[in-house]
Amino acid sequence: MREDELLQADSYRDRISSVTEGGKRNWVYALMPEGKWYSIRQKLAWLYLAVFFVIPFIKVNDMPFVLINVVDGKFILFSKIFWPQDFFIFAVAMITFIVFIALFTVVYGRLFCGWACPQTIFMEFVFRRIEWWIEGSPSQQRKLNESPWTATKIGKKTLKHALFLGFSWLIANTFLAYVVGIDRLWEMMGQPLEHIGLLLGLLGFALLFYSVFAFVRDIVCTTICPYGRLQSVLFDPDTMQIAYDHKRGEPRGKYNKNATRTFGDCIDCKKCVQVCPTGIDIRNGVQMECVGCTACIDACDAVMEKLSFPKGLIRYASENEINTGRKFRFNNRMKAYTALLVLLSALMIGLVATRKTIDVYVSRARGQLFQETSDNKISNLYEAKIINKTNKDLPISLQLDGVDNGAIRLVGNPDIVLKKESINEITFFVDIPKEQVVQRSSHIALSVYSGERHIQTVETKFLGPFQ
Ligand code: SF4
Ligand code: SF4
Repeated sequence: MREDELLQADSYRDRISSVTEGGKRNWVYALMPEGKWYSIRQKLAWLYLAVFFVIPFIKVNDMPFVLINVVDGKFILFSKIFWPQDFFIFAVAMITFIVFIALFTVVYGRLFCGWACPQTIFMEFVFRRIEWWIEGSPSQQRKLNESPWTATKIGKKTLKHALFLGFSWLIANTFLAYVVGIDRLWEMMGQPLEHIGLLLGLLGFALLFYSVFAFVRDIVCTTICPYGRLQSVLFDPDTMQIAYDHKRGEPRGKYNKNATRTFGDCIDCKKCVQVCPTGIDIRNGVQMECVGCTACIDACDAVMEKLSFPKGLIRYASENEINTGRKFRFNNRMKAYTALLVLLSALMIGLVATRKTIDVYVSRARGQLFQETSDNKISNLYEAKIINKTNKDLPISLQLDGVDNGAIRLVGNPDIVLKKESINEITFFVDIPKEQVVQRSSHIALSVYSGERHIQTVETKFLGPFQ
């Protein structure tokens, strides 16, 4: 290639796909993909959407299946309540998730972006489909945008934006249902004036979603999303990605059925560019703007099939696979990430499996030493915080372990009933016969029972007089 040709071929590196040479927004008019990969992704998208919209309605044992109430610090996963005290489980879950994503990216590139990211799912399978349905193919959309404001254009634009707003409102409501629960959401909708603050917030989020899907669109993936920006650090030559087989495709050249082909298999039809939702040309090599959506694979496979060329000119492959023909290799970085992921997952499972539904914390009352009672006992005052993470009130009893003739004397109501989903505070004395208190400070054990069921034993200090 001549130097000027090389510069021209490399010019895509000088700007991002969403901006024109003149610095204006480069609006992407993507062709609707068709083919094997798109069809699988579409089915998965319907499944994700169904799960997303249905989960807030699911209740088990009268509890939401999932609730992420960050405002009140209340979290329910699989109908189990997690409290801020369980936050370390979330921390481990988050770290596991990040390592999982990192490992996935090192091995499988942007598989998450193309197959599971909510932005891609909503954009490609809800909003862009509405747009194709109302405004037609990319060329029809372009024509409509460039045409004057006729009644048809006003009608189409109004319908499209009304549907965009409607879906954004639905998405914002569903997210709110994950935060406050579906019952509270219905309550709010029934009395909007009494929840005006929340409703304004909801409207704000709906407008945010609307502006993302109606106007910002591919810029989220190509410029804003931090995960997308991380790709360049995580990718290596063995990372699987959607790649153009330049060895097979180049030199590209138009197809002429009457002439013997002297070019590579790429017929420069640009179908792969036309379907790309981020407006890039995959033939330029790996680019950060590629969200791994597979649309270009389907488009190119259809062209190859029509010409009776082998499929897979664009396919899932690593850079090394394309360059050397070497098969997929599980390198050291992948092994290290996998080991870390297995460890974190085991820790995660262990933490969830051993997580208690009732947590007991006992401490001596602050500023108190001990008292001598008239019946010759030493008495210490204690405060207990017992968290009932279940959704049922629970009667419990306290027991002093291993001290003959020692007793627990509750301050106030002798029947302790732990209120559901609450932190219960209990104050009580521990009385021990004076002759048994032989140390200035000793350890005692207190057990909590619900009926016959032992819940937890905690240790605390007991203070006595100097001997
Ligand atoms: S769709 Fe395939 S043949 Fe057409 S330009 Fe893209 S890579 Fe070349
Ligand atoms: S280059 Fe291909 S896989 Fe990447 S975003 Fe564009 S169409 Fe999707």
